[in-house]
Amino acid sequence: MSGLLPVEDAQARLLALRAPLAPENIAFSESLGRYLSEPVVAQRDQPAAPLSAMDGYAVRFADMPGPWTITGESAAGSTPSATVGQGEALRIFTGAWLPDGADTVIMQEDLSAEGTALHLTTHDDIRSGQHIRALASDFATGATLVAAGARLTPGAIAAAIMSGSEQLAVGKRPRVAILTTGDELVHPGHPLAPGQIPDSNGTMLAAMLAAEPAEVSLPLHLRDDRSSLSHVLKDLERRHDVIVTVGGASVGDHDHVRGALEDAGGNIDFWKIAMRPGKPLIAGTIGDALLLGLPGNPSSAFVTATLFLIPLVRHLAGARDPLPEVRQAPLTSALAAGTKRRDYLRARLEKGALAVFDGQDSGRTYPLAEANALVIRDIGAAPRAAGEAADYIAIA
Ligand code: AMP
Ligand code: MG
Repeated sequence: MSGLLPVEDAQARLLALRAPLAPENIAFSESLGRYLSEPVVAQRDQPAAPLSAMDGYAVRFADMPGPWTITGESAAGSTPSATVGQGEALRIFTGAWLPDGADTVIMQEDLSAEGTALHLTTHDDIRSGQHIRALASDFATGATLVAAGARLTPGAIAAAIMSGSEQLAVGKRPRVAILTTGDELVHPGHPLAPGQIPDSNGTMLAAMLAAEPAEVSLPLHLRDDRSSLSHVLKDLERRHDVIVTVGGASVGDHDHVRGALEDAGGNIDFWKIAMRPGKPLIAGTIGDALLLGLPGNPSSAFVTATLFLIPLVRHLAGARDPLPEVRQAPLTSALAAGTKRRDYLRARLEKGALAVFDGQDSGRTYPLAEANALVIRDIGAAPRAAGEAADYIAIA
């Protein structure tokens, strides 16, 4: 036993700390990327009547092969001007209601019309009932179109609008504060004195959250000072659902997140997770807020945010499946055996194959710029040859 917590256990413990936030009703136009609190259930039949799928003429199949007399028309947006009796045809357009009496639509390309006289010009088969969208063939009243907990994609929004609902019930967006810690850190783009480095993690985390249903405050930076950290945590807790700190999460003399949380009255858990990068992670609660303490190395911060912060935000926002999707693709080169910790290797997926980068030092930022995938190498995994499949998580 290594005494390290498996990733899945840590994820489950983190998500169990708080239930999803209360739902709210929002307009369709605001709903992209939100998670449904209730399923979208059809309030109407779609289509609400049989429709024509073509521009042409509505006839009775029994009258084949014509000729017919044109007695009216049916266009989208209104109801047919007449019913169709024996030997009669109605001009009809795509999306228009099929007139009573008609059971078949013939495409205009297969007919010739002179005044009100209509003749068949094709030798192709005309099938009974052709080119008609049946009543409720898209969906019927009562059908579940989008499940509770699903993310609202553009397509899901279209289905929700068609359902006849007036608005959508979705989980509230968690309010997230980002706090970077470290005496060496300087605001992005500012000049550096010896020993200083730019604070990349704060803005990186905000960017990772930008695609998520979260209300993210501007990242704050604090020096490695336990008492100011503790004061700021107490203040942030009142206005946020999640406080994510980055850096200072380990057990060094300058790592104050744990101590500051205790001073601020938080309920702390410190996990050493069986993963690389990103072994130390702090999780806990402070007042009504959740606290997630990520390690400061850029790759560690990125990977732990992918595996813990993003899922936490999605869970609070009402996601049914908040964890990143694991996919498979073949490797472009051999991969050594796994160790006692699960690796999340920065890699590039190109033309369907995964190239794992050579330099996997968690302190490096450059591979993050190149990576679009994290290859998962499990604890004790057997070595893989080039061409063998590996698990990976797609990253933006
Ligand atoms: P820490 O987790 O505070 O021990 O930091 C680990 C490493 O990550 C150190 O080399 C830090 O300088 C670096 N680091 C910490 N926070 C940041 C940050 N916000 N941006 C860039 N690098 C950081
Ligand atoms: Mg530090």
